[in-house]
Amino acid sequence: MISRDLQANEQGHLLLGGVDATQLARDFGTPLVVYDVGNIRQQIQDFRESFDQSGLRYQISYASKAFATVAMYQVIKEEGLHADVVSGGELYTALQAGFPAERLSFHGNNKSVAELTMAVDHGVGVIILDNFHEIQLLKEVLAVRGTSVNVMLRLTPGISAHTHRYTQTGQVDSKFGFDVASGQATRALQEVLAVPQMHLIGIHAHIGSQIFGVAGFEMLVQKLVSIAAEWRDDFDFVPQILNLGGGFGITYTAADEAIGPDVFIQHIAATLKASSAEANLDLPEIWIEPGRSIVGPAGYNLYTVGSRKDIPNLTSYLSVDGGMGDNIRPALYQAQYEAVVANKLNAPQQETVHLAGKYCESGDILVDQAKLPRTEPGDLIAMLDTGAYGYSMASNYNRNPRPAVVFVENGQAKVVVRRETFADLTRLDESYL
Ligand SMILES: *Cc1c(COP(=O)(O)O)cnc(C)c1O
Repeated sequence: MISRDLQANEQGHLLLGGVDATQLARDFGTPLVVYDVGNIRQQIQDFRESFDQSGLRYQISYASKAFATVAMYQVIKEEGLHADVVSGGELYTALQAGFPAERLSFHGNNKSVAELTMAVDHGVGVIILDNFHEIQLLKEVLAVRGTSVNVMLRLTPGISAHTHRYTQTGQVDSKFGFDVASGQATRALQEVLAVPQMHLIGIHAHIGSQIFGVAGFEMLVQKLVSIAAEWRDDFDFVPQILNLGGGFGITYTAADEAIGPDVFIQHIAATLKASSAEANLDLPEIWIEPGRSIVGPAGYNLYTVGSRKDIPNLTSYLSVDGGMGDNIRPALYQAQYEAVVANKLNAPQQETVHLAGKYCESGDILVDQAKLPRTEPGDLIAMLDTGAYGYSMASNYNRNPRPAVVFVENGQAKVVVRRETFADLTRLDESYL
């Protein structure tokens, strides 16, 4: 059984945002990335309502690395959110989309002078400082430009969310941020306070990704409040904003026990109120940076079934027309997904196969143990919950063009990223003759 509700029409075809998935495949081809925009808006609304009920002052900043295109920034703008960018390219895309620069936070552990200059020149809302080198670079940029900017300090609080090693970022030996335990964070504070052109508005930490429990966030809130109280006492400085990062987990398979935004926010609010009162600190504003939880469940990758290899008494491979080039997560960190046959949604699951991609890597398996109805060449596979870190990590490996991206909402479909052509693949190539 598939661990979520899916909608089908009377022909048993999967409906996405009110549009028949087989129609999308016919109109736009496969592989195809589809986003149900209503689902994105609903996720945002759920976060908002949870915060509104908590009584906290807050800001939700979409971590755009999960899926960053012009159309996506436009939806986020429309919904009134902030957004995180982590590169000049994301910043450029957001600006192209007409996203207000003052609602952008600029992240990254190795921002270049060019990126910092670009951020300052466009009036980015806040630069999240990651390391001492960057403090120096930004100081120089601000001196040259004769301007000032809001900053936050990214801290490494020594809290690790219990997830896959590659998606842990808050533990002491992380590559990100100023380490709290060794005193780096305090040194960074002193350096930044000495630069009048840097307005330190808050502190930030991001403890990991695909988090299923509230405990890590509770510990983080306590830790950041205690740092704020310590800095008040020692330096007469109080950070106004505590930015808790993202990492809210989603359900990919029945093994994932995702908890809703309401539960996360209730626990964050309760811990914040208690620990702020105890430290005699005015209630700080809370920022969060959800990426995966905003776009993951809204995304679907559609593929057409092609060849099949049955190894007698052993196993079967069912191959589709996409794979690691449009979703590298299974190959990169054994990410698990569920898949359905979109044109036979109500057919009973009859077999278990390796759902394989078309790329020249044995590791290009999209779903290791896919439980599916009997399929034939031409059937349409929908992989579920592919909206986060799928298209944004897509590549041209094997010189396969990247798929088109379509937004569906209220029965309408709109291409928001065109499919790459073969000509696009050689666009940057120069002859050596
Ligand atoms: C990646 C990242 C996020 C988003 O993480 P999700 O797991 O997608 O919610 C938020 N903040 C920072 C600093 C990040 O690096």
